[in-house]
Amino acid sequence: MTFTSCLSFLLFSLKSSNWAIFDYVLGNPPREELTGVVFSDGKQYARKTKAKSPDEWALPSVQVARECLGVLPNVQGLVPIGSLVADIGCDRTCDFCMTPTYGTGYRRMTPKTALKWLEIQKEAGAVSINIGSDQFLARTLFPGGRDEILEITNGAREMGISLMWPNGLELRKTTLGAGRNYESTDLRPDEELIEALFGWDGKVGCPLAYIPAERPVFGREAYKKLLPWQEHCTLMKSVVRTGVPVIAYGIIIGLPDDDVDDLLRLEEAISELVDELVQINPKVEFQIACYSIAPLPGTPQSHNLRKLGLLQFEDSCVWGGLWTPTCNTHHLSYEQISDWQIRLSKIRRSSSSFTNYNGEYSGLVSTASSNDSKIALANFG
Ligand code: SF4
Repeated sequence: MTFTSCLSFLLFSLKSSNWAIFDYVLGNPPREELTGVVFSDGKQYARKTKAKSPDEWALPSVQVARECLGVLPNVQGLVPIGSLVADIGCDRTCDFCMTPTYGTGYRRMTPKTALKWLEIQKEAGAVSINIGSDQFLARTLFPGGRDEILEITNGAREMGISLMWPNGLELRKTTLGAGRNYESTDLRPDEELIEALFGWDGKVGCPLAYIPAERPVFGREAYKKLLPWQEHCTLMKSVVRTGVPVIAYGIIIGLPDDDVDDLLRLEEAISELVDELVQINPKVEFQIACYSIAPLPGTPQSHNLRKLGLLQFEDSCVWGGLWTPTCNTHHLSYEQISDWQIRLSKIRRSSSSFTNYNGEYSGLVSTASSNDSKIALANFG
C-alpha cells in the first residue's frame, strides 16, 4: 500500500505532525496512541490533548516579560507588575466555579521554575508579581508542598520582589490540618505559613491580598473549602497580624435561598469582624468585593439557577462580569440583590486607591446608589 493510497482511506484531523498516523500508515510500531483521526470505515479515535503542567510552560525572554508588564498602584507606588500562574486546576468543587470543569486536574510548578519566572520578570523591571493560580495552596496536600510554598515566598523576598494573590488564597488551607475535610481536621492557623504568604515589612512580602470569603456565614454548605465562622474569624485575625496593608474580602450574594434576614446577619457578622480586624491593625485598608452569583457555563450552580427559573438575563456580557446581579433569589429580586451589593460593599470601606486586579469595579459598586442601578437596569431593558 502506498502512502497516497493510504491517504485515500483516511480522513485526517491533522494538527501538526501526528506520528501515530504515520506509524499506522507505514505499518511501523506505534510510538503513541492514535488520536484525532476518522477512518473511512467510521472508526474514530477522538483527539486527546494533554494539558502541559505549569512546570513545562516555556519561560519568557526578558524582552517578552518586559512587554507584558502592567502598571498598577499598590502601597509600593505606581509600579510595574508581572504575573505568574504557578498552578492550574483545583482539588475543590465549589458549585459556582469553572475551574473544576477544566479537566486538567491539579498541577503545580516547582519552586525552581517559579523562581526562574520571578527572576526573569524582576530583570525586566517588575517590582511586584500577581500570582494568579487557581489554587496555589493545593500544593500543601502533597508531600513537601508546604515547604514549596515557603521556598517560593522566601525566594521572592530574597529577590526583593513582592507577591500579590489576585485570585485569592483559600484560608482553610492555611490551617495546621491544611484544610482537609476530616471531622478531626486541625483548623488552627498555621502561623508560619500565614506569615510567609501575607507578611509585609514595608520592603517585601504581600502588599495586597484577596481573600475569597465567598459565603462566610450563611450558605456555606455548598463550599467545602469554607471554615466555620469562628475559625474563619481567627484566621482573618492571623492574616491581619502579618501587617498586610490592603485586604480585598470577596463575598458572593444572590444565592437561591438568600433573603433579607440572611443578608442582614451577613452584614452584621462582617461589620463585627472588620471592627475587630482594624483594632489589630488600624492601618489595614479593608475592602469588601461583593460579587453576585452568575451562571458560569458548565457549573452545577448554572444548571441550578436555570432549573429554578431564577436567571433573569441570558446575556453572558452581563452575568459574565460577576458584578451585575442577573438572578432573583426565592425571596428577593435581582434589583434588591443589586441594592444589597451596594450596601455590603460599603461596610467599613477605607478610601483606598489600591485595588485587586478587578477591584476597580468593586470601588464603583461601593460608590453607586440604588438609583444608579435602577437607571442602568432600565436602560438595559
Ligand atoms: S472557587 Fe476556588 S477553591 Fe472553589 S473550585 Fe474554584 S478554584 Fe477551587
